[in-house]
Amino acid sequence: MTATRPPFVPAVDPPAAADQPAWWFVFHGTDILVAENDDGTAVVSCLPDLTDLGLTGVRRQFLGRFGAAPCWSVELAVGAAAPPGMAFQGLRGLYGRLADDLYAVAGRASQIVAWDRDHQFCGRCGNPTEIASAERARRCPSCGLTAFPRLSPAIIVLIEKCDQILMARGRGFPERFFGIIAGFVEAGETLEEAVRREVREEVGLEIADVRYQGSQPWPFPHALMIGFTARYASGEIQIQESELADAGWFGVDDLPRIPSKLSIARRLVDAWAARHGRTLADA
Ligand SMILES: [Zn+2]
Repeated sequence: MTATRPPFVPAVDPPAAADQPAWWFVFHGTDILVAENDDGTAVVSCLPDLTDLGLTGVRRQFLGRFGAAPCWSVELAVGAAAPPGMAFQGLRGLYGRLADDLYAVAGRASQIVAWDRDHQFCGRCGNPTEIASAERARRCPSCGLTAFPRLSPAIIVLIEKCDQILMARGRGFPERFFGIIAGFVEAGETLEEAVRREVREEVGLEIADVRYQGSQPWPFPHALMIGFTARYASGEIQIQESELADAGWFGVDDLPRIPSKLSIARRLVDAWAARHGRTLADA
């Protein structure tokens, strides 16, 4: 879903006065407040102030602007009720229902809300932190420790062998649902090392030609997915049973149920299918 707003421009220092409608990305836990339309689409509130909805947050952060319109993230108190005609919804379920630009800012907002809530006190000395100026950070006035919004880089890799790709079903995935190999980058590792290690650990294979394909913020709660393709080099599939229930090679005509278009995993699979002259139906 596309929109006709000017592009979002991130910023840290808030406007001096609330003299025009602003976009309010309001969270209760990990759910965001939206108004739902009859056609299934949803939208976040655009109002001069949050009090126009009868709400006050426990914390707010200025995010940036769509054109002249400011954008704010807000965390509501536990137990807060949605105003009439609105509802709290999980971000995953809003993909394709919120306009793409609002969805992207909602993902950013959810990460900033979580970081702001989780860094009220210094992790080193325990004193209350303060919002820094001119950068997105909380700083400890006592010891000087600075906490930036946390990002956890994770690799995800589509492995090709002749005309097939490796797909794997995680423990806890629904019966027919398969994804591709992914995992968090460890301290001290390059992205390429993380790709080779995860593949070795999860399916016992060696790979070659590890190539970067793109990345995606993944706000569940604060990952950055970094997508790669690779070629099978050697080995037989041996699944890591603590992580995976099943894994195998699949051709374009016999794919299992694949990830939704929300994920970079799906983009990697779609690009591979397109190289084989296929367009895959929505999951
Ligand atoms: Zn401190």
